[in-house]
Parts: sequence; C-alpha cells; structure tokens
Amino acid sequence: MTEPAIQDPVVVLGAGLAAVSFTGGLRAGGFAGDIQVVGDEAELPYDRPPLSKEYQREGAADKIRLDLSRARDVEWLRGTPASKIDTRRRQVQLADGRCLGWGTLVFATGATPRRLPALQQAPMPVITLRTLDDARRIRTALAPGVRLVVIGGGVIGLELAATARGLGATVTVIEALGRLMSRCASTTLAAVVARSHVEQGVDLRLGRQVTGFAGSALTLDDGARVGADLVVVGIGVIANDEVARDADIACDDGIFVDRLGRTTCPGVYAIGDVTRQRNPVSGRFERIETWSNAQNQGLAVARTLLDPTAAPYADTPWYWSDQYDLRIQVAGVSQGDDEIVRGDAAPGAKFSLIQLHRGRTVGVTCMNNVREFSTLKRLLGDAPLPHRAALADPATDLRKLLAAPKG
Ligand code: FAD
Ligand code: NAD
Repeated sequence: MTEPAIQDPVVVLGAGLAAVSFTGGLRAGGFAGDIQVVGDEAELPYDRPPLSKEYQREGAADKIRLDLSRARDVEWLRGTPASKIDTRRRQVQLADGRCLGWGTLVFATGATPRRLPALQQAPMPVITLRTLDDARRIRTALAPGVRLVVIGGGVIGLELAATARGLGATVTVIEALGRLMSRCASTTLAAVVARSHVEQGVDLRLGRQVTGFAGSALTLDDGARVGADLVVVGIGVIANDEVARDADIACDDGIFVDRLGRTTCPGVYAIGDVTRQRNPVSGRFERIETWSNAQNQGLAVARTLLDPTAAPYADTPWYWSDQYDLRIQVAGVSQGDDEIVRGDAAPGAKFSLIQLHRGRTVGVTCMNNVREFSTLKRLLGDAPLPHRAALADPATDLRKLLAAPKG
C-alpha cells in the first residue's frame, strides 16, 4: 500500500470552518502528530452564516462558536497572521516574529471582502461583513428607523437587507448589474428574490453604482442621492492567497488545487474559500465560496492525506440562503440555457428549478422546498433528463417518478 502523504508536524494557516473540519478530520482518522493552527482573528473559530442572519437578531456570539471537540489536542495560535512561508526550509513566519516548521502545510485562509474606495472618507459607518467584529459593528448601528444602504445585491447584501427590514430599518439596495445574485442564482430565482424584497419595502436600485457621497447621502451614477446612516458593502470577495503567491505557488484569485487539495508545491495543500478548484459540474476552475465546500473539502483532504486509497473530493457545490421566509437552496451551476420550472415561481411560493445546459442537467434550485432538494440533486449529470413534463408538474411525487423506469 502507498504511504500516507501526511508528514508531521501539520501547520494550518487560517482558523475558520475549513481549518476546523480539516483538523477534526485528521484526528477522527487517527492522526496523532502535532497540529498547529495559525489564525489572524482574536476569536476562537466561529460560524459565518449566522453573521448576516441570527446573530444580527440575537447578538449571541456563544451560539455561533464552531465545535472543536473533534479537533482534539490542536494548538490554536490566535490574533497573529502568517506573513511569509519558506517552502525550501518548510517554515512559516508569523507577523509577531514566531517561526513554525511544518511537515505538511495547509492554507485555509478564506477570503476578504472587496472595498469601495469612493466611500473611504464618508461620514457614516461603511462596513463590509466577513468577521464577527464586522457583524458586531453592524448590529450596534442597526435599529428601527436607521437608514441602511446596502451596496451589492449578492447573498451578503440581500440576507442583511432582509434581516434589517425585520429589525425595522429602512433599506436601500444598490446593485451594479440589472439583476440580483448574478454569481449564484438563475434569472428566474433572482426575479422572485427581487420581487420579495420590494414587497418587503426595500428600495431596490438595479443597474446603479455609488459614485461618492455628499453630506450624509450617497450619490449614484444617475445623479440620485440616497440618505444613509449606515452603509454595508457586499460586492464580493478576494481570496487570501498572497502568502502562497509570494512563495510562487500557482494562484489566480485563489490557490489552484487538485482533488486531493494539493497545490503546485509538494507538501503544501489548500482548502475552503481560498482554493481555485475544478468544479465537477461546470468543469471549470472556480472558487467555490460556500459553507458546504469549506466543511467537506476540509474533511476530504484530511481523509486522502491519511489514506491514499480514499476517494478524492468531488462534491457537487451547493449553498443555502435565508432571506425573510425564503429558504433558498442551489446546487451545481445556477444558470443554463434551458430551465424547467416546477411550481409557481412567485414570492412566498414553494417551487423548484432545474437548469439544463446543452442537454445536461447542470443545476437545481429549491425555494421553500427543502424536502425535494436532495432528490433533485440526483438528477445532475450527463444522462438525458427523464420525464420532463412530469418533472414540471409539482403534483408529481418525485421519489416515485425517479424510481420508475425512464421513459
Ligand atoms: P474563512 O471562514 O474565511 O476562514 C479563514 C480564516 O483565515 C479567517 O479567520 C481569516 O481571517 C484567516 N486568515 C486569512 N489570512 C490569514 C493569514 N495570513 N494568517 C492567519 N489567518 C489568516 N455559505 C453558505 O453556504 N450559506 C450561507 O448561508 C452563508 N452565509 C454566510 C454569511 C456571511 C456573513 C459570510 C461572511 C459567509 C457566509 N457563507 C455562507 C460562506 C461561508 O461562511 C464560507 O464559505 C466559509 O466560512 C469559508 O470557510 P473558510 O474556512 O474557507 O474561510
Ligand atoms: P457576491 O459575489 O455574491 O455578490 C456581490 C454582488 O455585488 C454582485 O451582485 C455584484 O454584481 C455586485 N457588485 C459588485 N460591485 C458592485 C458595485 N461597485 N456596486 C454595486 N454592486 C456591485 O458577494 P457577496 O454577496 O459580497 O458575498 C461575499 C461572500 O460571502 C461570498 O463568498 C459568499 O459566498 C459569501 N456568502 C454566502 C452566503 C450564502 O451562501 N448564503 C451568504 C452570505 C455570504
């Protein structure tokens, strides 16, 4: 049998979900060597999805801590970024002067929000949302009647807009493109989400950009002014790959990895949001910015490091998003050249969408339809889609239909 690829000691850079799942996976798989995790945040690892949702409502930081019980005997070095690595000596330099040696190095450094230089000197708080600190600052400023302007109609902006409406804030969303959620939703889903926000009282400005500010208002490229007490910027993220890039590891807004998490440098791996990996559905190298990827790629890379015969990571990408009472789940590729609509694609309704591209089933979306999601996911792939007409009928029992012979 081939030897395990892992070499003691293991050093992980970044202390988010991917790091917790990876280190827990190593211990669960029987690895008894030293593990150190270097995190630049002062906090112990926490879960990010609640930051735009439950945390804004409840403010309970203790409820969002990640469970570290599987990651036994791991040394968590907090509040200090890794600044440089030497791949020849296998050493990592920390910003506080410490130097750690590694046998196996893993990048789990995630991503950082893009910022808007035009608002650098603005008089009102202008906040991006990635960390617990960011979420605390937003929570402190959010109150009934506060005029919140969200820049970016992606998942962060829309989740926060929904939460803020629930807390009584006045909300304007400014999105540069002519539709919402362009990175991760089909046009059908995006249109339903847009109508839902408008129905909930959000002032939605599509196809608009912020040019700057005048007093306490933001100025837009159509000359409009929008009064703001608080601005949250959610215009996408950039991979935290600079330490890898400086060490000549192949990166392009993300560290390139294969299905075993290997980078272009022997002994150096990467997992989670920081990676650029082949999306098994689209076939393209992409960054997959989802909770399930951080969790499952972390576990899979731990497994394959310990056991070279274990299955490489090949999960179908998927995410969920909660906005008001909309429970959105999307798997695979969000947009194809053909779509089957199962149910009434309208705000408040339960429906599913199946995306096809060149005859392949490439994506599924469920809206308030959690029970169908895993069954529909099984349709993804190259095989011709069976029972097209029956699939479009929401009265059809999916399980029975998909168990039936194809026709
Ligand atoms: P991160 O969680 O970003 O962790 C990386 C850590 O590394 C960070 O602490 C970072 O500060 C640290 N770091 C960076 N550089 C260094 C360095 N040089 N040295 C040391 N440490 C470093 N996904 C969903 O599927 N559904 C959701 O509903 C959802 N909601 C979200 C809501 C919010 C507000 C946010 C921000 C994200 C949400 N996500 C959601 C996405 C999901 O949380 C991420 O995909 C996931 O957190 C990625 O985990 P990660 O460990 O790869 O990176
Ligand atoms: P995003 O890429 O989903 O959306 C960014 C949006 O901003 C896009 O609609 C884009 O067109 C728009 N935009 C870009 N530049 C703009 C500008 N100058 N003015 C106005 N609009 C502009 O990114 P995000 O919403 O910022 O989310 C950031 C990260 O957080 C992602 O990694 C995301 O996966 C993660 N996240 C995920 C979830 C979820 O899956 N439910 C929830 C929240 C956050």
